[in-house]
Amino acid sequence: MSGALLHVVGARPQFVKAAAVLRAARLPERHQILHTGQHGDVGLSDVFFQELAIQPPSHNLGITGGTHGAQTGRFLDGIEQVLLKDRPDAVVIYGDTNSTLAGALAAAKLGIPLIHIEAGLRAFERHMPEEINRVVADRLSDVLLCPTARSVRWLELEGLTRGVQLVGDVMLDIALRERPRATATPIARYLAGDRRGPPPEAIDALGFPCGPFILATLHRAANTDDPARLRRLLAALGDVATRFAPVVWPLHPRTRNALARSDLALPPGVVPLPPQGYHAFAALLLGAEAVVTDSGGVQKEAFFAARRCVTLRDRTEWEETLEGGWNRLAGDEPEGLYEALSGPAPTAAPDLAAFGDGRASERCVAAIEGHAHRPAP
Ligand code: UDP
Repeated sequence: MSGALLHVVGARPQFVKAAAVLRAARLPERHQILHTGQHGDVGLSDVFFQELAIQPPSHNLGITGGTHGAQTGRFLDGIEQVLLKDRPDAVVIYGDTNSTLAGALAAAKLGIPLIHIEAGLRAFERHMPEEINRVVADRLSDVLLCPTARSVRWLELEGLTRGVQLVGDVMLDIALRERPRATATPIARYLAGDRRGPPPEAIDALGFPCGPFILATLHRAANTDDPARLRRLLAALGDVATRFAPVVWPLHPRTRNALARSDLALPPGVVPLPPQGYHAFAALLLGAEAVVTDSGGVQKEAFFAARRCVTLRDRTEWEETLEGGWNRLAGDEPEGLYEALSGPAPTAAPDLAAFGDGRASERCVAAIEGHAHRPAP
């Protein structure tokens, strides 16, 4: 549709970010969603559209799997065909996935204004696929909407100042907005001690621990794709479960497949769960003693919820979360996990202001709808 503002999404964190932005739309009829299919299964996609009331995609390319190059190429082809036909007024891309990269390339080559939400993030790890996607997306974007002052600075250092705006973090907006729903979930109520009625199915079936627990999410290729490293990671989680508290681990399909391929069993005290919906996951996070992750989004959400986090990476693109000791980098060695978790607890509350005021989505919408050149039909 000519005049549309097309949001390109494909992966779980992008549904969350788009949900935040689209909820703030002032011209909702102009916004359309193109879903590449990168995360196509129900637990990683549909549940987010339902729970977060995201409008259904107007286009779904249904492309899954493949190597980075093959996947990005197929996304590019599919997105380009949509753009050629629909000629939207602007393309909006989110974060740092292959869907982001393909959306950026397709729009830039057709001269369609390109808006990047979560621009300017850098972990300074050029080997990470996400970092490559970020750098290219930022280079090609006309409007760069930055979540933090630090991200504005990284762009400045790369000579990018035109079109750069500090808007705040849309994931803070949605985390704050959805918290009441998260605390009303059966999981949250059960964890808060409300034992009226049976425990939620997943909890009951898995013999969920009722005392303190650690919430884990691990799915970066660097952690899952090398069987030797995965084995060490499991040993480290097992160590934490024995010496600290049980570990609850909603398994990303990539991790589940990697475990199956390597024929690795989870150690005692490490409890697998299927991928959780947004609210159930937020409830687990709010109920957890601490979080172990390699996810970008989960590092932030732990910070927003004032939960201690240990990140199994050398560096983070969200350095703000390191302030006050809320997030610790355990480095590339899983063996550092227990030590990082046992460090002193933070004493001051996390400084959420580093991520804005909870109204980043409104600023994003103002920037996006500024590209709606044509009057609504
Ligand atoms: N998330 C979820 N259920 C889960 C694990 C994560 O809803 O079982 C949410 C989490 O709250 C966050 C997003 O998924 O909003 C993060 O996605 P992911 O870790 O896949 O991507 P990353 O942030 O690393 O790009």
